[in-house]
Amino acid sequence: MSESFSVAMTAGTHRALGAVLVRDDRQEDVCIALYRPSTGETRSTALLTSVVPPSDADRAVHGNATVFGEYMLRGAERARDDGCGLMFAHSHPGAAKWQSMSGPDREAEASYANLIREITGLPLVGMTLATGDGTWSARRWDIGAGTGVDCTHADNVRVIGAQLCVSWNEDLCPSPAASSKQERTVSAWGDKCQADLARRRILIVGAGSVGIDVAARLAASGIQRLTVMDFDVVEEKNLDRLIGAAQRDVRLRRPKIHVARRLALASSTAERPQFEFSDRSVCEPEGLSLALDHDLIFSCVDRPWPRAVLNSLAYSDLIPVIDGGIAIDTNSRGRMLNATWRSHVVRPGRPCLACNRQLDLALVTPDRQGDLDNPSYIEGAGIAPESNGQNVSALSASVSASLLAQYVSLSVAPGGIGDPGPIQYSLSSHFLDHRDDPIRPHCPVESTEAAGDLRPDLSGAHPMAAQQREIAAAVDWRTRALRWADNRVQALTNWLNRR
Ligand SMILES: [Zn+2]
Repeated sequence: MSESFSVAMTAGTHRALGAVLVRDDRQEDVCIALYRPSTGETRSTALLTSVVPPSDADRAVHGNATVFGEYMLRGAERARDDGCGLMFAHSHPGAAKWQSMSGPDREAEASYANLIREITGLPLVGMTLATGDGTWSARRWDIGAGTGVDCTHADNVRVIGAQLCVSWNEDLCPSPAASSKQERTVSAWGDKCQADLARRRILIVGAGSVGIDVAARLAASGIQRLTVMDFDVVEEKNLDRLIGAAQRDVRLRRPKIHVARRLALASSTAERPQFEFSDRSVCEPEGLSLALDHDLIFSCVDRPWPRAVLNSLAYSDLIPVIDGGIAIDTNSRGRMLNATWRSHVVRPGRPCLACNRQLDLALVTPDRQGDLDNPSYIEGAGIAPESNGQNVSALSASVSASLLAQYVSLSVAPGGIGDPGPIQYSLSSHFLDHRDDPIRPHCPVESTEAAGDLRPDLSGAHPMAAQQREIAAAVDWRTRALRWADNRVQALTNWLNRR
């Protein structure tokens, strides 16, 4: 079992549960739902799939609610038939915040835990809805040493809709105190929102010009848990866009995540930043597993394979992905004709990257096989060379700004409006367009919603990533010595920054 536990559901599932649990007569009620597990490196998540509402004969409501065994059995059998686990929820009318377990709550759930596990093969998940403010709390009933069952409390419960709403377990993930460094940020959206955003575990895939900018800005805003994933080594050709990278990074063959680390730590205003920098690819099984530990992902990569993996996770594992990119059109003489940048939140309820035509799924296999790095393959297959990688640092800031604006809309919902849907900015006319790309019926990606560990496996060995890690590791003794000296200077700078 992974160390920590979480629950995620779509806004639709949240509404379906609320329709049963929030009663006009302000009495308690109960409801069952099915879930599928999603197993990350250090966290396992129960993804709620469907709600099984109770009939009048399934429970007795008398201020409190008593669930009858037939309902639990019927739910467990349906869960088993669907290859799912069972979640049992009850409400605390009028209550607010994360709920602790009363004696009777604990007794009711514990008494069913072994039976449910026996029938479904998966642990019972218990949840409580505090109807006063809509906060969820959750726990998983594992086999315990003494009593037969013992529960693991969740870190958080995530509801994914136009706004990403997170309920927090204050015991396991206490609110970080906002520091005076964040005064202006807090004055924009308040203490409560800041405490919520600061605790979210955010992954940035790709530490190029956009990814590094996003990392530095999130760190400055007080995010505590940030992961940056990239396997590339800094090259000379990156220096005109990779703000913060220097010639010494090329000389010392530093991975891009080294630059991301330097910038994120220098920008961070969190009291105790827990930043992680990974040289994996999200296409490798270990990279994919690490991605599943996160609440929100920024996709700052342009290759079809990693974007297909992230596109899939947004639906199969209910982790919203904020994606975007830039295309610069030039004529045959190399003059700029236009530049367009797009951004979109990929999540259930919004079109996937294939539906909004930002990802050609037919290119995933050639990318996986390394064919997209082979000019003769590209010419032979008649693939239009999308671009020669034209990019300008003056414009990459617009891409990161667009991604970050999507992030604020999804997280904070200014004016009660969440993510705006796919948007596109055209530089020549300075026109901002709200795209209305429809969700294709029978989209193979969106149909995997909440599949969790049963998702189609797109991961595999990534020779290019392995090669880049070898380049970063294979340095002579001089480079090694210079790296050591550079690291000492950096450590001293970090120490001074924290004083
Ligand atoms: Zn789709």
